[in-house]
Amino acid sequence: MARIIAVANQKGGVGKTTTAVNLAAALAAAKRKVLLVDLDPQGNATMASGISKRDHRPNGCDVLLEEATVAEAIVATDAHYDLLPGNGDLTAAELKLMDALAREHRLKEQLAKVTGDYDTILIDCPPSLNLLTLNALTAANGVLIPVQCEYFALEGLSSLLETIKAVRQRLNPTLEVEGLLRTMYDVRNNLGNEVSAQLTQHFGDKVLRSIIPRNVRLAEAPSHGQPIHLYDRSSRGAIAYVGLAGEMIRRERNQAAAGAAADAAT
Ligand code: ADP
Ligand code: MG
Repeated sequence: MARIIAVANQKGGVGKTTTAVNLAAALAAAKRKVLLVDLDPQGNATMASGISKRDHRPNGCDVLLEEATVAEAIVATDAHYDLLPGNGDLTAAELKLMDALAREHRLKEQLAKVTGDYDTILIDCPPSLNLLTLNALTAANGVLIPVQCEYFALEGLSSLLETIKAVRQRLNPTLEVEGLLRTMYDVRNNLGNEVSAQLTQHFGDKVLRSIIPRNVRLAEAPSHGQPIHLYDRSSRGAIAYVGLAGEMIRRERNQAAAGAAADAAT
């Protein structure tokens, strides 16, 4: 059964898409079966995966409106993960869903049909706490929160954490914070170090050990339609995402072992 992870933060430009795409590629390179769901109408994760967002094929919109299944809409990418493409049609899907019954559960219901086919399903969320993001948080087991270590980073986090709390109460009681990921980190920047220290103080071991550095190769890769793993695998950015994939795999194993030990004790 796949673990479903929503990459979310309502702040734009914090590294959600970069993380979703490059983590998908790094996990796939570690022989994990990965599905990346592009739930942002901007379709950035789709393009960064080397897939045109203008192709006339079923996409995430059709899946949310139950006009296609995930299996019909997915495409294989060069970096060996599957992609459920997204584009501007998702905005129309969101509007149409507003009136639907159990409108927050659509993605969960659709993904349930393929969870047996994957180890990890990553969802790249749009930069707002809208119905699309609620669908992602309802479907997910965990939320991965990219945080850019700058002055207003913590401010936005509280409303995201409130939303996660509300989703837990109303829609998805077992939703966990998978971790906070420091992105675009620059060691020469004192403010970054300060914010990083504050994050650790507030959130303890929810702050992931892996840190994604600011790296120009990461910013260049999307315009070539390639995850960093294909574009420049020896770059600092590529190495950082390989490290993140390793950390996620280790955490999952530790959790599974802890779960098994708890079962054995009862
Ligand atoms: P979001 O999906 O949260 O809006 P993106 O992943 O699209 O954020 O990142 C915003 C911009 O910053 C993009 O142009 C991206 O290429 C760039 N970027 C993201 N992460 C890094 C990084 N670690 N180093 C340099 N540039 C980055
Ligand atoms: Mg994005």
